[in-house]
Amino acid sequence: MIVDTFVFGMLENNNYLLVDEISKEAVLFDCTQYTDEIEKSLNKHNANLKFVLITHGHFDHTLGLAKFHEKNPEIPIYAPIGDKELINETDAFVDRFLGGLGKIEIPPVTKYIDSNEELFIGNNKIEIINSFGHTKGGVCYFIDDKLFSGDTIFLESVGRTDLPGGNFEQLKSSVKNIINKLADNVVIYPGHGDLTTIKHERENNPIL
Ligand SMILES: [Zn+2]
Repeated sequence: MIVDTFVFGMLENNNYLLVDEISKEAVLFDCTQYTDEIEKSLNKHNANLKFVLITHGHFDHTLGLAKFHEKNPEIPIYAPIGDKELINETDAFVDRFLGGLGKIEIPPVTKYIDSNEELFIGNNKIEIINSFGHTKGGVCYFIDDKLFSGDTIFLESVGRTDLPGGNFEQLKSSVKNIINKLADNVVIYPGHGDLTTIKHERENNPIL
């Protein structure tokens, strides 16, 4: 499978497009902005976007969804059920932390999902791993030896826990769970910053 990375927005969020070369199905992880670059990448791979998966409810991972939905009303957007409240309060959250961005639309999520949701790209199942702590309901998505970790794990770091819904002890146990569960060779695609691996984080992540 192929991953294309897009860095968008003032917080330099990573949005990832994962393409299955066999089925030509694709999934977009997080949507900070929706630009032509994403469409170009889909065209380049001759792929169809099957759905968008949101790792957690922070605005910098969801602000592009309104435009995305306007252009692609038929493509479903899935987000974790535990962050439903946070997503529905995106306008208040942005007001409090940024202000002056003008009217923010509530991200148009098609369906809120839990870890039992059965999602596939081609024949590849996407495992939804609960990883609460950075937010109340954030998740990571695991497929094809790749972990799309949102703001749970970064290269030699972890997500902040001082925002509403954050909980350091919970985040620590979420990170431990992931490190214990997944194999060394799994590549971690975080919501910000550089790629890493389970092996590297097992050996270097200060939270452990
Ligand atoms: Zn976040």
